[in-house]
Amino acid sequence: MEACNAVEREVDKVLSKFGAINEHAEAVLRDLINHIQSLKKDLEEAPPNQELTAAQVQMLKQAMTKVRDTVQRLATDHRDLHSTVSKVGKAIDRNFIADFASTSREDVFSGPEKSHLLNQIICQHFYRQGMLDIADELAVEAGIKTDEGRKEPFTELNYILDCLKQRNLEPALEWAKKHREALLAQNSSLEFKLHRLHFIRLVQQGPSKQREAILYARQNLTQFVVRYEKEVQSLMGTLLYLPHGIQSSPYSHLLDPTLWLEIHDVFTKEACTLLGLSVDSPLSVCINAGCTALPALLNIKQVMQQRQVTGIWNGKDELPIEIDLGKQSRYHSVFACPILRQQSTENNPPMKLVCGHVISRDALNKLANANKLKCPYCPAEQNPEDARLIYF
Ligand SMILES: [Zn+2]
Repeated sequence: MEACNAVEREVDKVLSKFGAINEHAEAVLRDLINHIQSLKKDLEEAPPNQELTAAQVQMLKQAMTKVRDTVQRLATDHRDLHSTVSKVGKAIDRNFIADFASTSREDVFSGPEKSHLLNQIICQHFYRQGMLDIADELAVEAGIKTDEGRKEPFTELNYILDCLKQRNLEPALEWAKKHREALLAQNSSLEFKLHRLHFIRLVQQGPSKQREAILYARQNLTQFVVRYEKEVQSLMGTLLYLPHGIQSSPYSHLLDPTLWLEIHDVFTKEACTLLGLSVDSPLSVCINAGCTALPALLNIKQVMQQRQVTGIWNGKDELPIEIDLGKQSRYHSVFACPILRQQSTENNPPMKLVCGHVISRDALNKLANANKLKCPYCPAEQNPEDARLIYF
């Protein structure tokens, strides 16, 4: 963070300098152009073959000097600006570590099979973000076969999201209607929220839309009365305040623009769940996780170099330290054995004892004595072979 701030300070300097120079240069050039244009006009209006007077020659000479001076001054300003810009580059070099070699394993992406997978993942990311042109181009260049079926859901979702951004509810409503049963199965509120926004928009337009609003409510909101009784009641309540506008009514919260942001998120989430996609792009999740982990890894690298134990990290699938990426990056439950105080792995999975307590298999093997095991917690005696493997 400190490093970012240091670079940002330099960038601010460039921006303020650039702003000042830009403003100044524009004003100076405008004056100069006006001056030259008026001179030109005078010359054009003069009768042909008329000789210039001494005063006029002097004026032209002055104008030329002025132009030359101004150009020179602008060039100096430009040079100055350039040196400020190059300071930003130096600040970046000074504040950020460019050598990540020891925190990455290059062999992870080497080989045709792996680079193909990597290209595929990048391609999918672009499809997800709706950057179809880039994705198609990459697919052609990298020789990736993209089947239309894979592309299509993203194209549709992105189109609907774009429409929602422009406050056009139609495509989203149509989509929600088409997938109504599946959405209901996942207890989705999407369709109701879309209809609610449409209704609010009608009500917002005042008494002239009263009939339309009531009709809309009858056709579309009645089906939600059971599930969203309170919300539907509030929506109907707005009708009472139509003549004076709902801005000043107890229902003004329904006009909150965050409802539009919310619908965007609700739609993304529901649609992704329905299509079996993760809400966030796996590529952005990986990159963000890497960025969060990098400072800690660089620190540990330094410590390892100081203690000359750099070798111990090589060739292992595990990181040398545990890095907490925050709650939103936790996707799987983990089990740490209470006896060995280690996280369980494929080779050392969690085992449930007959009494219900769970320990890791290594701990179980260590505690077992022939075919007898005393649970370290309750302590029920049992046969270690009765313990069951648990999958999270
Ligand atoms: Zn027990």
